[in-house]
Amino acid sequence: MINKLLFCLLLTFFWTMPVYALDIQVPSEVGRGEPFWVDIRSDERPVGIKVGWMGREFAVPVDLPGKQRVLLGAGLDKMGEHELSMVFYWDEESREKTYKISVKDKEYPEQHLSLPEEMVTPPREVHDRIARDREQIRSALGTLTMDRYWDGDFEEPVPGDVSSPFGVQRFLNGQPRSAHQGVDLRGPEGTPVKAIARGRVVLTGDFYYGGKTVILDHGQGIHSLYMHLSSIDVREDDLVYPGEKVGEVGMTGRATGPHLHLGIYVLGDAVDPMYLLDR
Ligand SMILES: [Zn+2]
Repeated sequence: MINKLLFCLLLTFFWTMPVYALDIQVPSEVGRGEPFWVDIRSDERPVGIKVGWMGREFAVPVDLPGKQRVLLGAGLDKMGEHELSMVFYWDEESREKTYKISVKDKEYPEQHLSLPEEMVTPPREVHDRIARDREQIRSALGTLTMDRYWDGDFEEPVPGDVSSPFGVQRFLNGQPRSAHQGVDLRGPEGTPVKAIARGRVVLTGDFYYGGKTVILDHGQGIHSLYMHLSSIDVREDDLVYPGEKVGEVGMTGRATGPHLHLGIYVLGDAVDPMYLLDR
């Protein structure tokens, strides 16, 4: 009888004991345009982790046991409740965890700029080119590479101050335009522009608005974009290292003076680079 009771107690104990201890820290709310980290701790090593966010699903390279971080973000136009799902795969079971994350509105300043009229209202003959440019850039930023080339830190690409912050609502000659999708960093023409992290060059080109442009794929849906360069020093498919020169500061495309436009994208959505740069 005693033995039977003990057996039942032990059985209950083992049944209710979590098989694998997982501690996951997810913010319950973020501002639109903000990147955020998901922190995972575990004493065991799952064989796989899958993340679902903003309609995209991807496998994450496993750094556990110990702790690891996953970088995600909320685009400027993604206000509202969103579900984050994480599936952890062990040899014989999988566990799914879901979280509600509320993307809140956030005020960004306005900026009024005066530019030559032909740059504000592009002539008809360049409309096709602008549409092609946009599609090429959108498609490069949409690539989702399972490899993770970077280790979680981002270095500054140029030493200059911010001349125009992320998210600013722009008015060109009085007309409203889409919000600023990156930060403008001051730098004299010819200043070396360095890769903010290890990544593969997915696009180089000379675009109507962005001028000479480089896009790096850091893997796991993270991209960095460098615009208005005077020269480009890398080729598509090159693997570049943090601090490696990708080009030089210039004012190609729609720019009123030499500067670097730096964009950081998470799953195709621009996020504020200043949250991530080591400055
Ligand atoms: Zn800019």
